[in-house]
Amino acid sequence: MAVNYDLIVLGGGSAGLTAAVMSASLGARTLLVERHKLGGDCLHTGCIPSKALIRSANVAALAHRASEFGLNVPAVDVDFPRVMERVAGVIRAIEPHDSPEHLASRGVEVRFGEARFLSPREITLNGETLHSRKFVIATGSRPAVPPIEGLRGYLTNENIFELRKRPEHLIVLGAGPVGVEMAQAFRRLGSLVTLLDLAPRILPREDADVSALITSVFKQEGIRVCANAKVLRDTVRESSSDENDAMTEHMIDFEHGGRHETIGGDALLVAVGRRPNVAGLDLEKAGVAVHLENGPQGIRQGIQQGIQIDARCRTTASNIYACGDVAGRYLFTHTAEYEAKIAVTNAILHVPLKLDYRAVPWVTFTEPEAARVGLTEEEARQKYGNIKVHRITLDHEDRALTDGETQGLVKVIATPKGKVLGAHIASARAGEMILEYTLAMQHGLPLPKLSSTIHPYPTFALAARHAADLYWREKASKTLVRWLQRIFGYSGAIPK
Ligand SMILES: Cc1cc2nc3c(=O)[nH]c(=O)nc-3n(C[C@H](O)[C@H](O)[C@H](O)COP(=O)(O)OP(=O)(O)OC[C@H]3O[C@@H](n4cnc5c(N)ncnc54)[C@H](O)[C@@H]3O)c2cc1C
Repeated sequence: MAVNYDLIVLGGGSAGLTAAVMSASLGARTLLVERHKLGGDCLHTGCIPSKALIRSANVAALAHRASEFGLNVPAVDVDFPRVMERVAGVIRAIEPHDSPEHLASRGVEVRFGEARFLSPREITLNGETLHSRKFVIATGSRPAVPPIEGLRGYLTNENIFELRKRPEHLIVLGAGPVGVEMAQAFRRLGSLVTLLDLAPRILPREDADVSALITSVFKQEGIRVCANAKVLRDTVRESSSDENDAMTEHMIDFEHGGRHETIGGDALLVAVGRRPNVAGLDLEKAGVAVHLENGPQGIRQGIQQGIQIDARCRTTASNIYACGDVAGRYLFTHTAEYEAKIAVTNAILHVPLKLDYRAVPWVTFTEPEAARVGLTEEEARQKYGNIKVHRITLDHEDRALTDGETQGLVKVIATPKGKVLGAHIASARAGEMILEYTLAMQHGLPLPKLSSTIHPYPTFALAARHAADLYWREKASKTLVRWLQRIFGYSGAIPK
């Protein structure tokens, strides 16, 4: 059997692009197969369009607050089609970084089409049989759709960024990261928004304090938040035969707090989780096993679905690796890239590097941002029993006051000796601030070390250090706190 390639990568999203470029840079003959567009979810229907939309929404929200800063700004007029054109423009600006020409310059051959396995070492692509020593499967995920009676004509992340007409009333199913980001963005751009979730609170994977703070911000902004909401039925009505003005009305029946309710909206976003893209790959012919959970509970726990991999990203077939969303571990771009590097290091270099998930940070880009690394307070109590919680709010932080961004908190979960077990931040720039605690967890830096590191003033990062300073307060004598106040500018009160 003639071997065409050292490595064939299936899927040209964050994971596949990283795997292919790394493999080629190591001198391996590498083919990347993509069935749609290079760049995947992150570039076309995920991180990039959502963050571009959120930017417009946040500019609008700040303009609404202009008078707080002593500025007279005329009423904010959201030009929704232009907002969405800007989103498309940002995608176009980034697209060339992932083009076939760019990849060719990095030594990667690219072919378009849908590949299927014939055996562990062969695929068929556009009628041709290709052989490779190794494979990386990086085919990503797609939106999960819950089994709700009558559900149709809905939006997902795959088509919401194509809207050019602003919904009057957007109903969002699912209050995970995608649902809450879109809920706040559309509210700030002028839509009415109702957020429904089966879970008892929004952002159920975040620490309860962070979730409560974001809920309170959402309510202040006029988003209707319905947790514990069981959606029963969607009744859809097409309101116009004119294609340009076609509107789909959704009447959503749900149970909420023991009551039955019906709400109507002109757009429905389904954001209840993800499903791995494995259909049509003929994985059974390659001996690659997939773990799939069925039913709403399975959809909720999207993190457990996907191609089974071991700590080296190897599937149940020894020459085939999987990484990114299709492996269903953490569904983020940064983890997709990390897993791709582990897969290629094992597949091409034969170095037995293992996944190390001790400190995986993630950020939900609401305003304030919600960032997390490590265990929540509840998880840490269950696992360790004796823990310390160091928590500050932002209302006394100088930078938060200068910027008018005082809604927020930093909460650090640690052992009594100051080893960081988790950190949770709701704040402007939380996505940047969480890095300090990620480094601390990854490299074993205890709270006294963070506390004794000089942070520039006035920054939001200083709030992260102030939370670490609380370690001393737990231990502290009055003298020690006075010493901290003098040397590091610690602004907390002397213990009574
Ligand atoms: C709205 C939204 C916002 C998000 N925001 C963030 C964020 O801010 N930060 C963050 O870290 N993550 C974010 N994510 C998650 C992030 O987008 C994904 O985790 C990431 O894109 C996963 O990369 P991947 O390479 O595994 O999969 P994908 O990006 O989905 O790429 C898979 C590729 O494989 C191709 N493919 C599928 N099947 C085949 C086949 N049979 N043959 C060939 N090609 C195939 C697909 O066309 C696709 O291009 C967001 C997701 C969504 C939906």
